[in-house]
Amino acid sequence: MTTATAPSTTLTAEDRCDRCGAQAYLRVELQSGGELLFCAHHAREHGEKLKEVAATVQDETHKLSSTGGTTDSER
Ligand SMILES: [Zn+2]
Repeated sequence: MTTATAPSTTLTAEDRCDRCGAQAYLRVELQSGGELLFCAHHAREHGEKLKEVAATVQDETHKLSSTGGTTDSER
């Protein structure tokens, strides 16, 4: 019996960064079969290294900058 897995599962607020626990915006499927989640900050920090070990990278960091069209500062 095979479980049907959606090929492109959207990251939700329940997906948390493995490093700091913030909301995850990047999901990395490792070539070894594991899976890692990163927030935008850690996605940027580990991005280059992740590409070396990742089978697939789901990048949703664009969601951060496309909400409301605000400037860089939070307030
Ligand atoms: Zn993080």
